[in-house]
Amino acid sequence: MKEVFNFSAGPAMLPKEVMEKAQSEFTNWRDLGCSVMEVSHRGKDFIEIAAKAEQDLRELLSIPSNYHVLFTHGGGRGQFAAVPLNLSKADDTSLHLVSGSWSKGAVDEANKYNRAVVVGQVSEKDGLHYIAPPQLSDIDQSAAYYHFCPNETVDGIAFDWLPESGKVPLVSDMSSTILSQPLDVAKHGVIYAGAQKNIGPSGLSVVIVREDLVGKARKETPSIFDYALAAKSDSMYNTPPTFSWYLAGLVFEWLKDMGGVDAMAKRNAEKAALLYSAIDSSDFYSSKVHPDNRSKMNVPFHLANAELDGLFLKQSQEAGLLALKGHRSVGGMRASIYNAMPVEGIVALVEFMREFERVNG
Ligand code: PMP
Repeated sequence: MKEVFNFSAGPAMLPKEVMEKAQSEFTNWRDLGCSVMEVSHRGKDFIEIAAKAEQDLRELLSIPSNYHVLFTHGGGRGQFAAVPLNLSKADDTSLHLVSGSWSKGAVDEANKYNRAVVVGQVSEKDGLHYIAPPQLSDIDQSAAYYHFCPNETVDGIAFDWLPESGKVPLVSDMSSTILSQPLDVAKHGVIYAGAQKNIGPSGLSVVIVREDLVGKARKETPSIFDYALAAKSDSMYNTPPTFSWYLAGLVFEWLKDMGGVDAMAKRNAEKAALLYSAIDSSDFYSSKVHPDNRSKMNVPFHLANAELDGLFLKQSQEAGLLALKGHRSVGGMRASIYNAMPVEGIVALVEFMREFERVNG
């Protein structure tokens, strides 16, 4: 089979080595004569790999001991609801930085449970999408939490500064950026991520939550979303998504073998630089995001002549470059280049783009 590079935004490609390992033990895991997805989550074998996955994640992100690590259901959107239910009362205010469509989604969901207030949003600089850090003086210090999304998967907008929040706990939706670079967990109250980009298959989300924020869930919080119950039961209050958890564990082992998040950050910076320089060096392609806010994970780009979009997609797919269609709300193309995407994938994409421009430009 010819080599294929999958640029899907999520569920996204997983490292080849991980897929091969999972395949090799698919029907006979640990010599048990059955698959990991066919054994009890309460058995010794599963508990061992679940605990190891948590330990490896703690090491990879240097998670301090006063943080719980939870493996839960419900993906990223599940946390849009779990966060307000666990961290706020109905008459509390939650603060939101809206950098794109996912952080806007978090506002809409929070508004069902508390009073969501937008403290900053995307603007324009030099005609390009740009987001400036809100001033600390604008941050209501009585708010229950301050939510932001440092990498917007749809819009390709990212920022590497941490919003200044004073004493208000920061809550970060890292669904599309977790594990792509080092991170100071201790500056956050909650970090959460749906798994299906940099962690593993969908169906799982990871929540990293500071101890003092746990145990305050509202009475009406569904038990499966209650952080305290999840922490007390080692994320096994109900049956967890065991196969996703197992695969996440393999991804964490792969990341450690690859040199951890420092090595990933270096590789991701190199990959993004290659792709953005191809976009910037041509009038045929363009990015609508200001260079200060360009995502290293999701790279939307546009063809000068949108009538060529269909041909670009058809021919890129034929060349083994999959899933480059931009989100319907943004249009154009989007290359999602998470940890699992090798540099060769970017090289192949850039070569295709140059050739497509040569023929159609
Ligand atoms: N937040 C971000 C940043 C996302 O990219 C996504 C999914 N693409 C979500 C939240 C929602 O995740 P899920 O589909 O797992 O609910």
